[in-house]
Amino acid sequence: MSDILEVKDLNVEYLTRDGNIKAVNGVSFSLGLHETLGLVGESGCGKSTIGLSLLKILPINAKISGKIFYKGKDMVKMSDNEIRSLRGKEISMIFQDPMTSLDPIMRIKDQFFETIRAHFPKTEEAEMIKTSSNVLKSIGIDPSRLENYPFEFSGGMRQRVMIALAIILNPSLLIADEPTTSLDVVVQLQIMEVLKALKDQKDMSMVLITHDLGLVAEIVDKVGIMYAGDLVEFGDVDSIYEKPLHPYTQLLLVSIPNVKLEDRELRYIKGNLPNLKSPPSGCKFHPRCPFATDICLKSVPPTFDVNGRKVKCWLYKGEKDDARKTNTSVG
Ligand code: ATP
Ligand code: SF4
Repeated sequence: MSDILEVKDLNVEYLTRDGNIKAVNGVSFSLGLHETLGLVGESGCGKSTIGLSLLKILPINAKISGKIFYKGKDMVKMSDNEIRSLRGKEISMIFQDPMTSLDPIMRIKDQFFETIRAHFPKTEEAEMIKTSSNVLKSIGIDPSRLENYPFEFSGGMRQRVMIALAIILNPSLLIADEPTTSLDVVVQLQIMEVLKALKDQKDMSMVLITHDLGLVAEIVDKVGIMYAGDLVEFGDVDSIYEKPLHPYTQLLLVSIPNVKLEDRELRYIKGNLPNLKSPPSGCKFHPRCPFATDICLKSVPPTFDVNGRKVKCWLYKGEKDDARKTNTSVG
């Protein structure tokens, strides 16, 4: 499968008065055509920063380096005009809170028209109504709602409208940043179903950013686990769920709430994400890791390739066959 996206050694630093924050640190990964990637990790680990980098809409105090190849062209080097021609048409994004992206004083219809006309200025109104109606129908909203304002929709419906707006021009890459965070559990699952249906119907690759490893399991093909700006594990979803290699991934998996009667203990990862202005020496996860040894405190682990999986952890030094590590598991 050819890659639509290839991120190579991506670094993003936020420059602040009290020091620089290394939000993304040497991250590399690739995504094939029609593949879906789940970027997972605790709040503050740099997931959204990667999402914003993929659209080049980082805040003004961000400094970016590395390469982001979209369909073979490095976006980091693209001019503002080139990037603008991609946004919305080729690459689109859904944000956590639809109210920050939808204009509260504009009918949904006009927001759809604005998006279409930004790329195809000569489109006739009848054509825009047809396209907007079809996209609304595809995500389960009656086209008559085109006349409504955002405040006339429930939270879940608003998020659907956001999704419709993001896919109206059939982008090749959709980035969804915590698309269900502000919704209740039932609506969360409905939105995930919408995204799953899109993945099956459309010729689209997707990057799904979330802190909930359980929520994305059924949708994604690949998973990238982020910790304190590092991509600590990357691989196929099935292999990661069946046999997580990095201790942080293992802990994330045992932290997924389990409602079985025999197991009602709520597990969580002890300790907090480090301060990214002055992260711990060596492996940034060492203060929370049950397997930390001397080398972990002193040296930053490189990323090892273990049977096609990428793992940033000293436990896998010299490993080609990960069978030995099955006993090194948490939980
Ligand atoms: P969340 O799930 O809470 O959105 P995240 O994993 O997406 O978290 P980011 O939002 O990418 O993480 O933030 C990574 C780090 O960069 C955090 O420490 C955050 O405080 C910091 N950060 C984000 N934006 C800025 C900014 N504009 N200026 C300074 N620091 C920032
Ligand atoms: Fe734990 Fe060491 Fe691996 Fe870091 S490098 S995750 S501290 S075992």
